[in-house]
Amino acid sequence: MKEKQAVALVAHDNKKPELLQWVRDHIELLAGYDLYATGTTGKMLEDGLKDIKSISIYKLLSGPLGGDQQIGAKIAEGVIDFLIFFWDPLEPQPHDPDVKALLRIAVTWDIPFACNRASANFLFASAKIISEYSREAPNFDAYLNRNLKK
Ligand code: PGA
Repeated sequence: MKEKQAVALVAHDNKKPELLQWVRDHIELLAGYDLYATGTTGKMLEDGLKDIKSISIYKLLSGPLGGDQQIGAKIAEGVIDFLIFFWDPLEPQPHDPDVKALLRIAVTWDIPFACNRASANFLFASAKIISEYSREAPNFDAYLNRNLKK
């Protein structure tokens, strides 16, 4: 198992204040993880958490510029273990296909993820449960070795 597991944090613009508050509410737990974020979310979190020196965030590209896909790639590579993604159900997003792709990859690789505050609260409700969680990568051998000959 990796020394430190990693959490990805992403929020659409209208949801960024909610994510900042959620991160503040869970800061002690999150301090034990590597934190990744899409570009603008990461910058917003850094600005909003200036008073907390121990927190550092790996910032990727902005979501609509490829950041969502970078997060997805890191999930597939086993770098990111948890995803907190506060997406906005009330506003169309120019990068909707990327949003959908990120959610699909989270399901494909069977990582715990939460898309709203209540679910994120459940996910990080217990330091003990979450610290004992270890990722069991799905086995895609049958899929990869499927017979395509007709
Ligand atoms: P952002 O991207 O953090 O760069 O705003 C978030 C997203 O829309 O995926």
